[in-house]
Amino acid sequence: MENLEKAGLAVNYNRVGETRPDSLPKRIHIWDETLRDGEQTPGVALTIDEKIEIAKMLDEIGTSIVVVGFPAVSEEEQKAVATIAREGLEKAIVGAPARAVISDIDACIDAGVEEIPIFIATSDFRLKYQLRMTREDMLERLARCVEYGKEHGVTIDYIAEDSTRSDIDFLCQAYKTAIDAGAHKICVADTVGFVRPLVMKHIMREIKSQLWKKSKYKVPIAVHCHNDFGLACANTLAAVEEGATYTHVCVNGYGERAGNAAFEEVVMSIEELYQVDTGIDTEKIYRLSKLVEKHFMVPLPLHKAITGDNAFTHSSGIHSHGQLTHSMTYEPISPTRIGRRREFHLGKFVGRHFVEYLLKMGGISATQEEIRQITDRVKITHEDLKKGQSKDQFDTIKEDLQELRTGVSEREFWAIVFDTI
Ligand code: MN
Repeated sequence: MENLEKAGLAVNYNRVGETRPDSLPKRIHIWDETLRDGEQTPGVALTIDEKIEIAKMLDEIGTSIVVVGFPAVSEEEQKAVATIAREGLEKAIVGAPARAVISDIDACIDAGVEEIPIFIATSDFRLKYQLRMTREDMLERLARCVEYGKEHGVTIDYIAEDSTRSDIDFLCQAYKTAIDAGAHKICVADTVGFVRPLVMKHIMREIKSQLWKKSKYKVPIAVHCHNDFGLACANTLAAVEEGATYTHVCVNGYGERAGNAAFEEVVMSIEELYQVDTGIDTEKIYRLSKLVEKHFMVPLPLHKAITGDNAFTHSSGIHSHGQLTHSMTYEPISPTRIGRRREFHLGKFVGRHFVEYLLKMGGISATQEEIRQITDRVKITHEDLKKGQSKDQFDTIKEDLQELRTGVSEREFWAIVFDTI
């Protein structure tokens, strides 16, 4: 792109005009949640060794904060967190979350993590139905928990669960309370993936106008987005445009329900569309994606952005030909940026120029008539394929995938119940 831009052959609206934010920071930090929110993908349970391997890779690639698990969940989980905290990561900070409950914070402290994001909701209906607390009680508890963590010498952040469905004045009051008590960062959480990018920008502006007036309250803002409407990455970027400097992500977009903002999408968007450094060694992204996919045993959709098998595969003759004339023709970025290669798919959409190219690569000379014949035969071969076998295979794969979602079946659950009582 750079060269094409320099030569005046391509326009990049990402870099010019009114759409570009007035100020962007030099660095956006990647805060990875793969081993916590990501592991909450239905059916996923990682072994300690798998967690360690993923945490190390996240560290190696340049992630700023790696949340390695949720110690309050079980003894096993706390052991896993403690093991990673003890071994330590080279550059990344090891974090683990806690509800605004002292025993949760103790579980994190005992596990030896450096940073604890404490979360408690700010939306009125959650306070009423889920937490059964008044606003005042919630603020008091939040302050107490932040102070408690601080007293134990760990960095404390405050995540306002359900920020995007909360009264903005109360949300800001909660942030101020947390900061007064010693919180180092605050986080805007779109817990159920409910807002649009412009709404996210509006909320961020409100927060800034209420908090940033006083330098004391000008702490780093993190953003946590879910993908329920497919907007997790877009909403994350909207927050970044308004000053968020820590982005919560999960590799491959794994996570509860429709998942979280995807590591690879957020990182590559920030790096390529905003030209801002994330500290991530992007050429290792594909390897990271494959490692996490293998341990999660949740296969990526073929068309997944950035990391899906098809993301850099060209099938149409027009596109393949375009790619051969210049790589920017049908690719926004080079696949080498994330450590993978361009691929071409041969089938009914194949074109003459591409066949000619393949023959040339193979050192074979052919007449135009021969090339035309080969092209036609490739097309017909694909079109003539009987779909029966593929359909059976597809059904089997879908069934197998269901079985891969491990957990406790309803029958097993009731067996446990009647065994216990
Ligand atoms: Mn979440």
